[in-house]
Amino acid sequence: IKTIGILTSGGDAPGMNAAIRAVVRKSIANGVKVKGIKKGYQGLLNEEIIDLERNSVSDIIQRGGTILGTARCVEFKTQEGQEKGAQICRKHGIDGLVVIGGDGSYRGAQDLARKGINTIGIPGTIDLDITCTDYTIGFDTAVNTAMQAIDKVRDTSSSHERCSIIEVMGRNAGYIALWCGVANGAEDILLPEKYDYNEQRIINNIINNRKRGKTHHIIINAEGIGHSTSMARRIEAATGIETRATILGYMQRGGSPTCKDRFYASIMGSYAADILCEGKSNRVVGYQKGEFRDFDIEEALAMQKGIPDYQYEVSRALSM
Ligand code: ADP
Repeated sequence: IKTIGILTSGGDAPGMNAAIRAVVRKSIANGVKVKGIKKGYQGLLNEEIIDLERNSVSDIIQRGGTILGTARCVEFKTQEGQEKGAQICRKHGIDGLVVIGGDGSYRGAQDLARKGINTIGIPGTIDLDITCTDYTIGFDTAVNTAMQAIDKVRDTSSSHERCSIIEVMGRNAGYIALWCGVANGAEDILLPEKYDYNEQRIINNIINNRKRGKTHHIIINAEGIGHSTSMARRIEAATGIETRATILGYMQRGGSPTCKDRFYASIMGSYAADILCEGKSNRVVGYQKGEFRDFDIEEALAMQKGIPDYQYEVSRALSM
């Protein structure tokens, strides 16, 4: 490997910059040149390619977002798009590529690997929904941002003796909702994986809690369930208790990454650079059972993961 390319793809996540910095500096330490590809696979097809030196990544480890930008690219899902991408890599001397993103981005990496470009994926998403890894870059920052926001809503909710529905991100996965639900001591936690759409149970819970003297009722709702505003209207009508919905939205994707995100991103980025320099391809970096490892992309995509039953049980037991 003489030149490594790097891109960020799919949704951005805090810590992606720390991963970019690690890939650049570890590759240079290994004697390999690095090129940055802007705006994901779309930028590759548009040949938005820049040289990255060690000082190109100075002063970025503490910044949210991604300095390379990110995008979704429909053209790259086609054979022609992938062939064009591989040709552009070859034209720029890029013989190895690091892709920071989620499962969709790994599929693109797999297609490029089939066309002769060595590729390695790094898990970057706030949702924690990448099956081959216990940790994804951005999750820690996102849950801490959401947790702090929920604490603030709780203060005003208690003062006014309101019920609050707070919607957190997680389209297909309830990890942010589960973690915040436990960390914020929510009365109800609605996860896409577990919710039975039994609103009457929630309503009964609110009424019972009020009878027992609780001044607030916090419901953490995952984005994947959604409809927080209409849910609030129905709950208010049924309970007579003022109920408000707060949708936290994109604030959860931004901000300066936590120490944990910077640290994991630095290790995973370095690991990706190392295995790419060793000649590995079609792999993704993951963290499992306390160890940094790499997996075949095909195998990684076939793995299953879900909300651990015991953690869910605890979240229910503690919310009484
Ligand atoms: P994530 O990587 O976070 O899962 P997406 O699923 O949006 O996000 O994927 C990001 C990009 O990866 C897509 O816009 C597309 O360019 C590329 N991609 C996704 N799925 C495929 C696929 N099956 N084949 C090739 N490229 C894909």
